[in-house]
Amino acid sequence: MLSVFSSPGHYVQGRAATEQLGAEMARLGIEGPVTIVAGRSAHRLLAEAWERSLTDAKIAYSVHLSSGECTRAEIARITAGVRDSGSTAVLGAGGGKVLDSARAVADDLGLPMISCPTTASSDAPCSALSVIYTDAGEVETYQLVRRNPALVLVDTSAIAQAPARLLVAGMGDALATWFEARTCSAARVRNMRGGASTRSATALAELCYRTLLADGPQALAAVREHAVTPALERIVEANTLLSGLGFESSGLAAAHAVHNGLTAAPATHAFLHGEKVAFGVLTQLVLEGADSAEIDTVLDFCVEVGLPTTLAALGLPDPDPTTLSAIATRATAPTETIHNEPFAVDADMTVAALRTADALGRTH
Ligand SMILES: [Zn+2]
Repeated sequence: MLSVFSSPGHYVQGRAATEQLGAEMARLGIEGPVTIVAGRSAHRLLAEAWERSLTDAKIAYSVHLSSGECTRAEIARITAGVRDSGSTAVLGAGGGKVLDSARAVADDLGLPMISCPTTASSDAPCSALSVIYTDAGEVETYQLVRRNPALVLVDTSAIAQAPARLLVAGMGDALATWFEARTCSAARVRNMRGGASTRSATALAELCYRTLLADGPQALAAVREHAVTPALERIVEANTLLSGLGFESSGLAAAHAVHNGLTAAPATHAFLHGEKVAFGVLTQLVLEGADSAEIDTVLDFCVEVGLPTTLAALGLPDPDPTTLSAIATRATAPTETIHNEPFAVDADMTVAALRTADALGRTH
């Protein structure tokens, strides 16, 4: 098996970075016209900066407002609009689902994609993967696209305006990266691009975890004040770049499969990807028989930044056996990344790990 490392072409991050968007695109030879697929708050926050920056760079653009969901119907709707506009690039601006739909549209049309996350709520921005949801809100599939974004531009002034809960959810998603990377390396399984992991990817995944522990609480304090600080910059990088490179080039394991399993319970739909993934990390560690000290470190971190550590905190205060079984069945579907664990995993083992993780969270 060949080793494969996958990454966006360029990554730009910092305060008021949107002011440089046009110049960065011009530097990469992206001349436009470009369609901006925008979430509503991204549009409200950034429309003026787009106008200044893209006009300065003589790049024509149009804005297409996203529904905020990433479903097949939404992707088809945007694709038709972008095709009619004659755009030569697709820019996604918003949260993970907006970026995922823009990425799928760009891939359908064979156009370069520019990723401008306005929250650090998941590690979606850097990847070549879109998570497609059903109209009912369940994860339908992971759609791999051909190319990572040509440019990821992260404006930390915008991210500091987003609700603190979104940054916390991003930390939950990033929390999984090291544990899933470690598992995939140990199991010698294929990463998201079909290759073996590299030392580079696992080192970035580990740095992601260490950054969360060191800077998470301070970054949370900053975002609550809508302040951009060095700790916030480091957490934004961890949630976006380190976690993105780490998961894509090392692989996913039980934590994300448990997330997907949880989406089978409608009560969890009100919770964010990273919130469910954080509970997936605890479940994975229990499933793997991890050290109690390591589980305690993860629990301490989750409690400190406010990530869910119990099923009750995900809308399932007293889950009946049927609900747990539905979650575990979905988490252990044949295509799920739980089968990247270095041992065979079935639904019964997953129910046991879910219940134990929940009990540890309740008594911690
Ligand atoms: Zn994730």
